[in-house]
Amino acid sequence: MTLLSEAPAQTADVRISGLRKTYGSVVAVDSVDLEIARGEFFTMLGPSGSGKTTTLRMIAGFERPDAGSIELGGVDVSGLPPFDRDVNTVFQDYALFPHMNVQQNVEYGLRVKKVPKAERRLKAAEALRMVRLDGYGDRKPAQLSGGQRQRVALARAIVNTPRALLLDEPLGALDLKLRQELQIELKQIQQELGMTFVYVTHDQEEALTMSDRIAVFNDGRIEQVGTPAEMYEHPATEFVAGFIGTSNILSRDGRTFTVRPEKIRLGTDEGAQGEPGVITAAVYLGPVTKFIVALDGGGELTVVQQNLETSSEDVHEMERKRVRLAWSPDVEFVIQEEGR
Ligand code: ADP
Ligand code: MG
Repeated sequence: MTLLSEAPAQTADVRISGLRKTYGSVVAVDSVDLEIARGEFFTMLGPSGSGKTTTLRMIAGFERPDAGSIELGGVDVSGLPPFDRDVNTVFQDYALFPHMNVQQNVEYGLRVKKVPKAERRLKAAEALRMVRLDGYGDRKPAQLSGGQRQRVALARAIVNTPRALLLDEPLGALDLKLRQELQIELKQIQQELGMTFVYVTHDQEEALTMSDRIAVFNDGRIEQVGTPAEMYEHPATEFVAGFIGTSNILSRDGRTFTVRPEKIRLGTDEGAQGEPGVITAAVYLGPVTKFIVALDGGGELTVVQQNLETSSEDVHEMERKRVRLAWSPDVEFVIQEEGR
């Protein structure tokens, strides 16, 4: 795209090796290795306190690692201050200048870099068009909605055409519906720009919606890196299986495995097939119903069924009913096996 015309083609835009950061006795980030390709939408996903923000801040240069290195486009930037790194950061709180209008906010970074006025105007207009805010240049931040303010923050960052854009829970302050809309839009904008995005979230659905690849963080370390489908269908650890999607983990005959809720058939007790159990909860969710089933053989599974012909009254009557659960062996994904 026009905004990125000068950017050279590179394989790895961000490369992190052996990254470690401690605060006193707290190990915030430990042994983190990552390679993020040019143009990738890469997400760092994990629960609160798992080290995502600290990793992002080290890429940006706001924090110094205790060990390890950070390369941007093949150049080691570990010793450089934030302003000498070719990245921009978008935070959850918009951090716009309240006294400046939208146009001035977006132009700010270019003005600091002494870009001539005419060129600034042009680039800011292009950035505002990218975030679907043309015509809003004269407004003050206070005259915008939360979603619009976050778009301005995005425009203000992409106008600098950084090698990588770092985003720390940028949609975290917005309500669910707006967040879901902006997830789709943010991904479209990223694709139009062809810019590398490094995105932090604790929301697994958000990560699955937007990412080319995901790194799951747990306690300062990376558990697994992969595409959304790989993480969902082939979780490497119990933690990943539980964090991405519903935690449906069973141990049977020395094997521990997951079965995703939508892969399970729920039948009546009379059917001889499948594991017997009892429905302990049935939750009507509109298009689908979620059942929690306690199995006679131990353990509990969540089952999700489409409401093809089921009504909310039918669902209510199913609580406490005895049922059988069946699934094909190919949808079992083994996490641990005895003697292996
Ligand atoms: P996340 O973004 O995944 O929620 P953080 O990277 O913010 O996690 O934090 C990782 C760990 O480091 C947490 O235990 C947090 O309390 C700690 N931590 C982060 N920043 C600081 C700081 N400036 N001083 C002390 N501890 C910190
Ligand atoms: Mg954080």
